[in-house]
Parts: sequence; structure tokens; C-alpha cells
Amino acid sequence: MTGKVYLVGAGPGRADLITIRARQVIDRGEVILYDQLAGEIVKTLPASAELIDCGKYAGRHTLKQEEIEKIMITRAKEGRIVVRLKGGDPFLFGRGGEELEALRSEGIDVELVPGVTSAIAVPGCAGIPVTHRDCASLLAIVTGHEDPLKEGGSVRWDLLAGMEGTIVILMGVGNLSSIVDSLLKWGKDPQTPVAIIERGLTEKQRVTTGALSTIVEIADLTGVRPPAVIVIGSVVRLYRGEMLCGATR
Ligand code: SAH
Repeated sequence: MTGKVYLVGAGPGRADLITIRARQVIDRGEVILYDQLAGEIVKTLPASAELIDCGKYAGRHTLKQEEIEKIMITRAKEGRIVVRLKGGDPFLFGRGGEELEALRSEGIDVELVPGVTSAIAVPGCAGIPVTHRDCASLLAIVTGHEDPLKEGGSVRWDLLAGMEGTIVILMGVGNLSSIVDSLLKWGKDPQTPVAIIERGLTEKQRVTTGALSTIVEIADLTGVRPPAVIVIGSVVRLYRGEMLCGATR
């Protein structure tokens, strides 16, 4: 008898922004492996399940990717219901694709429960729609994890600079100045508006805005820190300073 692994999206951080299917699966889970970004959802996990914090495993280190995969595979082979809970949507960055491959290669039954991604929900709830018929018919969601000024990166910043539309960058705070330099180098308009939304959808949400030419200095002054979503493009002009998502409890 083999169990099953559910790859589950925890949404952007609020416990009421997960899907009904995610809630069902979490409540039935026997083994739940979760990441740090699952936010307040962590407080709602069933105490009867074996809970594995992949960020702070056994109070010592972050579980390595192979270790996470190994635990999922072993538990599923023991016949248990395994829930792999990931921030936002499981397949947008965060190595969900690799986990799918590892599980498939062991012949383990997988179900995907999609989640509300921070890439769209965090700007949205800050009052910035990522597309708009008048100014952005295209959306690129990119990782800012690689320094664009170093050789061998996989993100084509030259193409992104020439694109009419919105660029949403996740995991980009540490490389903000290289990202901005690179976009400017490839000809992106220095006046392009930019917003950085830190800790989106939490009580500690903070939005910093500027232009491509000024945002690095502003972010330095205000001390912008991860996790944050960076939005570059005309849609940022729609920002009015209000939260569209209702108060968090
Ligand atoms: N799979 C996730 C993204 C994983 S990458 C999703 O679909 O949302 C992790 C990055 O997501 C963070 O570095 C940050 O850029 C972004 N992020 C996730 N939740 C966030 C939040 N509540 N506020 C701001 N940024 C967030």
C-alpha cells in the first residue's frame, strides 16, 4: 500500500486566503512538511499530524532539498497521507517542480492543490493590478535570486528591459541594485515606476515606491527587507496607498 503526496499551495500568508481543497487536504494530512513562508497557516495545522518544519528542522538546520524529498517518499511508501505545504502556489519558484519529478520517479501518487500566488495577490491587495488593458497586456514573473550582473544567469534582463508590460520580481531584494542597473543598462526607461511590497498581506505590510532611477536609494534609506514583491511598470501608477484585501484578524 502506498500513500499519496499532496503538493499544496498555502497562499500568500493569510489563513483565510487558502483554497477550500487546501484546507480539506491539510485537515486530513498525516504528515505535513511546511516552509517558513506558509505564514499564519502554520498555526492552523492539525496537532494530530506529524508536523515537519522544513525551515527549522529539529531546531537546528534548514532541511536540504534531498532530505525533504526523502522524507516525503519514505512516508508515502509507508502508506501515509503526506502534505507538502508551500507558500503561494507550489509551482511558482520554491522548487515544487523538482519535488514533483522526485515523487514521479518513485512512482508516488501526487495531487496538486494550486494556491494564490504572492506574485499577483501581494501587488493586488496593495492596490496594484498586475495587468491593465490600457498599459500592461503582458506580465513577466521572474526570480531575482540570481545577480544579473554575474555571468551565467538564466534570466534575460535584456529582453525584460525591452518588454512593454509588468515585471514582477520575487526573491529580488538582495539583488535590487544589480537588477535595476541591468534594466537601465538594457535601455529601460529610468522613469518607469517601481513598487516594493514587503510582508504583503500581513499587519506589517509596507509599500515603498519610486522610479527605476530612484528606487535603490529610497529602498536603502527605508531599509527594505525580504520577503518582498517588486513590481516594475506603469501599473504601479494605480497605487493609492490603501489595502484592498480587508483587515487581517
Ligand atoms: N511559491 C511562492 C513564491 C516562492 S518564492 C508564491 O507563489 O508566492 C518566495 C518569494 O515570494 C519571497 O522571496 C517573496 O519575494 C515572495 N513572497 C511570498 N510571500 C510574500 C508576502 N506575503 N509578501 C511579500 N513577498 C512574498
